[in-house]
Amino acid sequence: MKELIERVKRLYPEPKIELDFKNPFELLVALILSARCTDTRTNTITKELFKKYPTPEALSRASIEEIDKLISSCSMHNTKSKHLKQLSEILHQKYNGEVPNSVDELVKLPGVGRKTANILVSMAYNIPAVGVDTHVARVAQRLGITKSKKSDEIEKDIMDKIPKDEWIRFYTGLILHGRRICKARKPKCDECPLNDICPKIGVK
Ligand code: SF4
Repeated sequence: MKELIERVKRLYPEPKIELDFKNPFELLVALILSARCTDTRTNTITKELFKKYPTPEALSRASIEEIDKLISSCSMHNTKSKHLKQLSEILHQKYNGEVPNSVDELVKLPGVGRKTANILVSMAYNIPAVGVDTHVARVAQRLGITKSKKSDEIEKDIMDKIPKDEWIRFYTGLILHGRRICKARKPKCDECPLNDICPKIGVK
């Protein structure tokens, strides 16, 4: 595990995700939009969306139809536009336009699950957390860090095995590794720098 942590650190030294954001509000909106939508498309959409509605207050004043029009190239845009409207109203009215930095508070917001909340607190506030998306789940299983397919259990397994001060760098590293090398259908094990220490569980 120590060797794995070191190698992931060397491969992906900067904890980063591929969504563009300038503040916690922008990251929250981008994360909601990115569900079943590529990061590239999400970044194109948010560029226009934030130009028009840069704050929770501004977005809360937009109609669902106006939001929907701007995000229509995104999958599930009907549901997402409703969530964004409700979410911005709550942020404006209850949180004075700020995004809470607590996972427990965040998961009460419309359209926000545990994965989104963990990514938000870690990337926007630098609070140690583990966001489990499809890449983290798959790569953690193949590397033998978890046997579970449930994201809350995978989150716990990673938190138990990785030191807290490495959580953010590690899970963001697994996201990038899953996207670039340990792909869902055809993992590129031949060119993977983790090959000699990876048990390749479930890889045929
Ligand atoms: S060796 Fe293969 S299965 Fe293991 S992390 Fe690399 S690409 Fe994924």
